Amino acid sequence: NKLVRLASRPTGWVRADNFELVEAPMPAPLEGEVLIQNDWLSLDPYMRSRISDAKSYAKGVNPGDVMVGGAVGTVVESRSSAFAVGDTVLAASGWRLYATMPAQAVTKIDASRVRASAYLGVLGMPGITAWTGLIDICQPKLGETVVVDAASGAVGSVVGQLAKQVGCRVVGVAGGRAKCEYVVNELGFDACVDHRATDFHAQLDALLPNGIDCLFENVGGEIFETLLARMNVFSRVALCGMVSEFNREPHAHRTLRSILINRIRVQGFIVSDKLDTWPAIRAQLIDRVVSGQLKFKESVVEGLETAPQAFVGLLRGENFGKQLVKLR
Ligand code: NDP
Repeated sequence: NKLVRLASRPTGWVRADNFELVEAPMPAPLEGEVLIQNDWLSLDPYMRSRISDAKSYAKGVNPGDVMVGGAVGTVVESRSSAFAVGDTVLAASGWRLYATMPAQAVTKIDASRVRASAYLGVLGMPGITAWTGLIDICQPKLGETVVVDAASGAVGSVVGQLAKQVGCRVVGVAGGRAKCEYVVNELGFDACVDHRATDFHAQLDALLPNGIDCLFENVGGEIFETLLARMNVFSRVALCGMVSEFNREPHAHRTLRSILINRIRVQGFIVSDKLDTWPAIRAQLIDRVVSGQLKFKESVVEGLETAPQAFVGLLRGENFGKQLVKLR
C-alpha cells in the first residue's frame, strides 16, 4: 500500500514538501469492514484548514497522520453483508491507495447513470454545498441578481447553474479569461468577471446596475470586500469559504460596514451539518446531470505522488474545475 502523510505544518503558503509519500503494509478488514482500492481521490480547499493548528469545526491532521480526504473506489474484500466485491463506493478514506473502512462509513454509488468521479464533485460534497448554501441560505427569487466567486470551481459552477434555473441573473467571478469564458459559454451564466483584470471594479459596476441580492461567497479577502460593497438592502450572503485567506496568517478583517447599513443577512454554514439531507439533494443533482441541465468539469492529475503538488495548485487557482487525483 502507499499513502500520503502530513510531514510538517505549513506556515503561510503550503508546499508539496509539507507532505510525504510512504509505503505501508496492506490493511486487512475486520468483521463489519470492507477493503477499498481507491480509484479517485478528491482534493478540496478545506484540507488547508485541517493541516493548520487554528481552531476549526473539525478535528485537525497532525504531522505523521495520513491526510484526510474523500475518495471513490472499488470494494476488493468485504466482511460486511452490505457490500460485495466489485461495488463502487464513496468514503472518507484519505490519501491512500487501499483503505479499510467500517461498512456504515461507506456509501454505495451507482456509476451507471453518471461516472463515478462525479460523486466527489457535482454529485458529492461540493455539489451538496452549492445546493444548501444557495437554496437554504440565499433563497434566491425570480429576477434577483446572484453573484458567486470561484465560479468555475466545484461549488461555484453548481451554484450559478442552479441560480439560473431559479430564473436569476447570475454573474460569476473567476481567475482568468478561460475560466470566465467557460462559465458564460458552457455553464450559461449571464456574465463573468476576471478578478485579475485591471478594471475588475469597473467591470463589476457595469454588470451589476441593480446591485447584488444574493452573494455566494467562496473566496474571502479583497474579492469578498469588493462584492460586499455592491450588495443591496436586505440582501443575503451565504458565507461558504474563504480560500484566498487560508494561506495567510490570521489577520483582522477590515470594515464590514455594508452588512450593517444594508441590513444584509450573512450566514456561515458547514455542509456536513445536515447529513440527513444529502441523499435527497444528491438525487436532485443526479437527475439534473443526467438531463444535461447541470454540467461539470474535472481537473485530473494522475498518481498518488502528484497529490501534494496538485493541492498546492488548487490553493493558487491552478485547477480548472473539480480537482481530482486518478489513482488507477
Ligand atoms: P474550487 O474548485 O472552486 O477551487 C478553488 C478555487 O478558488 C480556485 O480554482 C480559484 O478559482 C479560487 N482561489 C484559490 N485561491 C485563490 C486566491 N488566493 N484568491 C482568489 N481565488 C482563489 O474549490 P471548491 O469548489 O471545492 O471550494 C470553493 C469554496 O467552497 C472554498 O472556499 C471551500 O473552502 C468552500 N467549501 C465550503 C464548504 C462548507 O461546508 N462551508 C464545503 C465545501 C467547500 P479562480 O481561479 O477562479 O479564482
